[in-house]
Amino acid sequence: MTLHESTAPGQPASIELFDDTDIRRILCVVAHPDDMEYGASAAVAEWTARGIEVDYVLLTAGEAGIRDQDPGEVGPLRAEEQRAACHLVGVSGLTILDLPDGLLEADLTTRAEIARQIRRVKPDAVLCTTWELETPWGLNHADHRATGLAVVDAIRDADNPWLFRSQRVDEGLDAWSTRWLLVTGTTPTHGVELSERSVELGIASLEAHEVYLAALPDHIPPRELITQVTRGGGEAAGVDFALGVRAIRMG
Ligand SMILES: [Zn+2]
Repeated sequence: MTLHESTAPGQPASIELFDDTDIRRILCVVAHPDDMEYGASAAVAEWTARGIEVDYVLLTAGEAGIRDQDPGEVGPLRAEEQRAACHLVGVSGLTILDLPDGLLEADLTTRAEIARQIRRVKPDAVLCTTWELETPWGLNHADHRATGLAVVDAIRDADNPWLFRSQRVDEGLDAWSTRWLLVTGTTPTHGVELSERSVELGIASLEAHEVYLAALPDHIPPRELITQVTRGGGEAAGVDFALGVRAIRMG
């Protein structure tokens, strides 16, 4: 995700805080290294500090993300920056599926890959970025749209024991019912309250994408950007800082 302008998603007048008391594991599924670091990773810092296990699945290594540098170099480099970002906010596991950056499709292959990860991690909630074409910061990237849509479908696929049956037969992965889908970058229904420490870790995790951000001279400084996003969420939720999410009950 690359943000050049105002980033605070359209906030409704007020949102309630998301009740995560029954949530033990969260799986975050996004397209690229850095997609989690525009506010969502601050919520991850909050969750992991409270003992919730968080895993990331990235569909690509973001190898086509730097115009002047060869994908063969960029992929490993961005994966490394993502590992550092994950470490900062306490992510348990990072899986990069190495699908082709820039060319993702919400097809059966992508759905099967995501369903496999859901069946493996067994999350109570899955978090993804919005699949909408128009977002508050402009037209959404093709990979983000494809990933969001594939995640919605894969949550249902993962819960249907008759779909992608080889995952059960050959890999021992049973059907899994995910209770919540949390979507970022769209009009929120709920806020995840953030401590100041979590906001700071969120900023640090975006700063960890050092080489990538250096290749984007127009990029808003991470501190300014994350503060703006989390203050906006906090204002809507009636607290100092929050990440706005659209919480959708899935099962
Ligand atoms: Zn992205």
